[in-house]
Amino acid sequence: MNTPGNAAQELPGLGPQRRRFLALLAVCGTVAIARPAMADLVPLPETDPTAQALGYKIDGSQVDTAKFPKHTPQQLCINCNFFQGAGGTGPCQLFPGKSVSAKGWCSAYAVKA
Ligand code: SF4
Repeated sequence: MNTPGNAAQELPGLGPQRRRFLALLAVCGTVAIARPAMADLVPLPETDPTAQALGYKIDGSQVDTAKFPKHTPQQLCINCNFFQGAGGTGPCQLFPGKSVSAKGWCSAYAVKA
């Protein structure tokens, strides 16, 4: 019997073991994709060489506006296109394995699409 939305069951010629294997593969793939975002991330220190090069500040209000004149107070990691979190801290695509402050900022800021 086919269940709508279950691709493995809709494919003709697949036995129950193959269907189970494909379902398990789908679950493992989802976990593997979700794991980096959920893994223990190390908070990005402002002293990190890349963070320094990009002028990263944990508190976006502390940005050196003389050095980064295009920075505005509204630009924060939380509304940056590279931020992947939803809370006070979260992963940033530019700093793999690290978490950045939602209230932070760096010069790679790009408004969320
Ligand atoms: Fe924050 Fe965006 Fe810079 Fe990442 S790229 S540190 S999210 S401003």
